[in-house]
Amino acid sequence: MLLFKEVKSIKRYLKSEQAKGLKVGYVPTMGALHEGHASLIKRAKAENDICVCSIFVNPTQFNDPKDLEKYPRTEGQDIEILVGLDNDVLFYPTVSAVYPKGLHIPMFDFGQVDKVMEGHFRPGHFDGVVEVVYRLLDIVEPDNLYMGQKDFQQFTLIQHMLNQLASKTQLVVCPIIREEDGLALSSRNVRLTEENRKNAPIISKILHQLNDWLEEGMTIKQVEQKAIDQLSKIPDFKPEYLEIVDGYSLQAIEKMSDSDYVVVCAAVWTGDIRLIDNVILKKS
Ligand code: AMP
Repeated sequence: MLLFKEVKSIKRYLKSEQAKGLKVGYVPTMGALHEGHASLIKRAKAENDICVCSIFVNPTQFNDPKDLEKYPRTEGQDIEILVGLDNDVLFYPTVSAVYPKGLHIPMFDFGQVDKVMEGHFRPGHFDGVVEVVYRLLDIVEPDNLYMGQKDFQQFTLIQHMLNQLASKTQLVVCPIIREEDGLALSSRNVRLTEENRKNAPIISKILHQLNDWLEEGMTIKQVEQKAIDQLSKIPDFKPEYLEIVDGYSLQAIEKMSDSDYVVVCAAVWTGDIRLIDNVILKKS
């Protein structure tokens, strides 16, 4: 595996490989790698000639400085995992390499897509995400970009950004990898207390039950409320939002027949760890 820390050197390398007609797949991460990240890398390797993974804990997307400080950093282990996956290129830049002085990032218009759910509860978060993904794409210029369905609103915004840039990069969204008990893998899971880790799979269990409740005749509002009530009963759990939305616009819908693509997204505080998850309820 090749390791690059400098923008100039990775750009030069990838340009020369792409000039030979080789296809580049790119997996941006914040490290603390797990099987979710691994699934993206395996897919990128299978569909491209070169797989580039980046590890960059992006300070501009943390709306809570304590979360940034406590974000797990496992450099040695991450490199071992990447070597084990036969990843081709690791980009491991410093903050000043990604954000040189005087850098100009274009403004994008996301309408209401970045105002709801994560956008509402984590002010400034998506500004940071869009800023860093724009910058990283400008460096790597991949043919294909691999992101997880786990961060539903994130990949939706990035798709909007790519559309507005008329970018050549194709976004490939990969399914959520879960623990056997259903908990969506996340770098933050290692910070859960034993008790909260035991209860955490209830989140995905509830999200997967919503279609049954809808089929029993409950309305969307009733289903959302029932799910929130059940999550609120778990000791130390505090649901922040749970919303059934249109999968493209991410806006609330009243009836399942309002959209052919419906997803439920949720964020739940488990002690001082915030977990997000989602389940696609309908896609035709
Ligand atoms: P992160 O390191 O958390 O920024 O995540 C890097 C990429 O991995 C993002 O595109 C995430 O959506 C994706 N990812 C994170 N967790 C999972 C998971 N459990 N399954 C699939 N992809 C994931």
